[in-house]
Amino acid sequence: MEKNQKAMWLILGVSVTGLFAGLLAAVHWIPEGPWLLAAIIGICIVFLIPCFYALRLEVSTGAYRCKTCGHEIVPTYREALCAPHCGTTRYLKCPVCGKRTWCKKIWTK
Ligand SMILES: [Zn+2]
Repeated sequence: MEKNQKAMWLILGVSVTGLFAGLLAAVHWIPEGPWLLAAIIGICIVFLIPCFYALRLEVSTGAYRCKTCGHEIVPTYREALCAPHCGTTRYLKCPVCGKRTWCKKIWTK
């Protein structure tokens, strides 16, 4: 596994673990009410930031291969953020053949 991919999974793993641990702790320690809601929102924001960063890292370190013609698609951050995905497979429109396919991630750097 190369460096950026490792960093991405590490960030995702830590932030998702932190998110769940934080939410569990908040539900356990804070009585129901506006403070609990504020804590949940706060925790979500804090741990979603690294997720966005991980996505940025993912987008900047690879391309997606079109299933139809084999063209290597490099999506913009926005496209990647909006495209539905399943693991590292992303539903993208190929600029060459114009077809939308589930493109598999290829790590180029
Ligand atoms: Zn194509």
